[in-house]
Amino acid sequence: MATFDPCAWCEEILQPYLDRHLTERERAEAQSHIDQCGYCAKRYRFESGLRQFVRQAAIEEMDPALKERLAALRTPLL
Ligand SMILES: [Zn+2]
Repeated sequence: MATFDPCAWCEEILQPYLDRHLTERERAEAQSHIDQCGYCAKRYRFESGLRQFVRQAAIEEMDPALKERLAALRTPLL
């Protein structure tokens, strides 16, 4: 890629960000991008909401068809 695309970068680090696997600096950069980019903010809210939902659903018994549908919703990393 010739030019740096902050949204593509943001998408790439979204999972480690939610897993808290980023350095302090990366985390701050991601946070500031999410704060000023409506697209990434929306994606962030969706992903973190999905995680919360999945965590809750994992406790209860989960319908395999629903699990598959949720997996299909996830943004591929590559
Ligand atoms: Zn963005």
